Amino acid sequence: MIWPFRKKAKLKAKKPVTRLRIFMWPFVLCLIATLLNAALPLEELFRGVRDYMHARPADRSIVVVGIDDRTIKHFKTSYYSRKYNSQILDIAFGSGAKRIYFDDSFRLPLDEPGDRDFAAALSRRSGKVFVGTNHFDSLGSDAKTVLEPIEILRPHVGLRSMGGFKSPFQMSAQLVHAEEIRGQEVLSISSDLAGVSGKAGELYRPDWSIQSNSVPFVSVLDVLDRKAPADFFAGKDVVVGVTSQSEGDLIQIIGQGWVPGVYAHVVGAQTLKEGDPIDVGGLPALALAALLSIAILRARTRQQANRLMLASGVAFLAIPFALDRLFIDSLYLPGYCMLAVVSIRSSALRELSEARLRNAGTLLPNLSALREELAAANHPIVAMRIKNYAAVCASFPDSVETDLITELARRLTLPGQTTTFYQAEGVLYWLGPTLKSTELEEHLAGLAQLIESHLIIQGRKLDMHVVFGVDTALTRPVANRIGRALLAADQAAAKHQLVQLNTSENDEESAWELSLMSELDEAIDAGDIWVAYQPQFDLKSDRIVGAEALVRWLHPTRGAISPEAFVLAAEAHNRITRLSFYVLEQAMLAAKPLVASNPGFRLSVNLSAVLLESPRLPAMIVDSLTKTGFAAASLTLEVTESAPFSEHAVVARNLSDISELGIELSIDDYGTGNATLDYLRSVPCHEIKIDRRFVTNLVSSASDLLLVESTIELAHGLGRRVIAEGIEDPETLELLRAIRCDLAQGYYLAKPMRIDALESLLNSNNRLHAA
Ligand code: C2E
Ligand code: MG
Ligand code: MG
Repeated sequence: MIWPFRKKAKLKAKKPVTRLRIFMWPFVLCLIATLLNAALPLEELFRGVRDYMHARPADRSIVVVGIDDRTIKHFKTSYYSRKYNSQILDIAFGSGAKRIYFDDSFRLPLDEPGDRDFAAALSRRSGKVFVGTNHFDSLGSDAKTVLEPIEILRPHVGLRSMGGFKSPFQMSAQLVHAEEIRGQEVLSISSDLAGVSGKAGELYRPDWSIQSNSVPFVSVLDVLDRKAPADFFAGKDVVVGVTSQSEGDLIQIIGQGWVPGVYAHVVGAQTLKEGDPIDVGGLPALALAALLSIAILRARTRQQANRLMLASGVAFLAIPFALDRLFIDSLYLPGYCMLAVVSIRSSALRELSEARLRNAGTLLPNLSALREELAAANHPIVAMRIKNYAAVCASFPDSVETDLITELARRLTLPGQTTTFYQAEGVLYWLGPTLKSTELEEHLAGLAQLIESHLIIQGRKLDMHVVFGVDTALTRPVANRIGRALLAADQAAAKHQLVQLNTSENDEESAWELSLMSELDEAIDAGDIWVAYQPQFDLKSDRIVGAEALVRWLHPTRGAISPEAFVLAAEAHNRITRLSFYVLEQAMLAAKPLVASNPGFRLSVNLSAVLLESPRLPAMIVDSLTKTGFAAASLTLEVTESAPFSEHAVVARNLSDISELGIELSIDDYGTGNATLDYLRSVPCHEIKIDRRFVTNLVSSASDLLLVESTIELAHGLGRRVIAEGIEDPETLELLRAIRCDLAQGYYLAKPMRIDALESLLNSNNRLHAA
């Protein structure tokens, strides 16, 4: 038979462990245990151990006269004639005893002369001798059986209660302060000895750290034989009772073994003299444990929780000992249990949740941890991407990730600051300082220098390249901001900047970029993207010797879109390869006939710096050359100088491979980056293209003229030719000619145009003054 219900029950998901569950279960169980006194035997064992550790002697103000084995052996009974009790009274009082208590009710008559003799002795000592009494439920009736002395003794003695209880597990005993017997409140022997009063029926626990075997003792037989030490009774209270183990009136005390009941009165009396024992039960300890448990569960960090656990443990060990000294009795074990369970389970939960929030190798917190970081709402999120992370890691035979990331985090920690770094692979995130954008960029540039200089990992010097993305849109959800910071870092990498800030303002821009990119492929297929050609003139011959291919996008609804905008977007969104090769191939196909009819004509095509980082670039260019049949020797590729060519192995190899194909290289936008003489020497370029920023004001600005002039000189010294772009007037053109610039490009000469326009321009007389 199939049991569908059982199957269902098995499939039920286990409830997740929460802090509330960790608290509630032990609390409820321990509360029940406290109310039911369920831990009593263990509690008594614990108390017994504490008493044993604190063992101390009796104060010797009370002595015991014991009916011991020898006495019983001598009289052959413990019920010897009471005339001997008369003798004990005479001897003890004769030696200076203060009061005498009999731990016996004398409820049965023995030999009549003896009883009479005792009565006479008692009458002589009226007010100084006390006899035990007790009452208990009688079988089969509501009335209580009262133990009290036979009638002839009764008028001469005070009655004192012997009432007490052995604990259920026989590991301790309690005594009454007083009892109500026949409507009369009767003090207990111990209360009377101690000189204190107490409510009837109220129990207290004698301090069993007082060692009963240190109570001064003498055998009845020795007293009768006058063998008791001379000063034994002087100034003392005396308790007379059975001490022989054979009589059965015994209580078991941990650390003391079986103790005759008579000692309970003596130990009890000393306890009451020293303090006022109270029993507070188990609830205060459980309440304290609950409070400590809450504190442990709510601790923010593991260190805090550990400190609290240690403090709770120490407190719970010290408190019982301290309270014992104050005669405050309490039950501790449910509290211990609660604390122990909560400590263990909260540690396990913390371990689990910390593992969830940590990177296994570096032990740095991960993005889940950053998502839960409340402080993120008040700080910019910085993402630092290590651009050459994969390359660096792959260059080591052993795992280097942990060392690398740990070292970087160490370097990024400025003196006196405690920044938390969150790691996801080759990206480190942290909460940046709240600064103005320019200050933040300077701050990050400083950090980049710290990282990029002299980094030595596993004995090897490394060159790290990093980019920073920052998100400052504080009102957005943290998870979203983490993505935005990373996107900004990627954009910084694509634009060859060190830092990109992602503020709320550029959200619209990125939404626009995204929608634009989704249309890019369609636009290429629909022919909305086409190529314009801007002629380049030789300044010696004044003839057109080439043209720069410039991409154009005529969007059906948005109109003409600036190539600067969509080229950058394509770089940031990984669409640059398709776009670049589309333009390259279109241009080569279109320019091929021009090259054929105009020997020496060069086609210049812009090459995105992002592509320069792809190891597949040379092969792809070879493919395009083969596909179009264009001669490599007639092609110039323009690359911007912002990319750190010389520091990037892949870029350097690509440049030399391209150059070896016979393609010429031109450094575009020269002057805007940070190229040095060394840089020019190391890059295998044939041409330097001075950015139009320096050309526009050439006539009016002495410093621009100085820069352009010295660049031309320098380039010529290195055997490179120079082209100036952005020439908008004849004065500039003539000035450039005068300072020996080789080539010229600009609106004054010719604007970018369609290929057929270029072709007819070439076929007309192809002279500069025709423009
Ligand atoms: P660039 O490579 O520095 O191109 C020169 C830019 O200067 C072109 O702008 C050109 O139209 C403009 N220009 C030429 N003469 C003058 C002038 O006399 N005055 C002024 N004010 N401007 C002049 P365009 O076509 O808007 O292209 C802008 C940038 O877009 C280019 O700068 C280049 O970085 C990028 N770009 C254009 N086409 C492509 C392409 O096919 N691939 C890649 N990767 N980038 C491209
Ligand atoms: Mg260019
Ligand atoms: Mg340029």
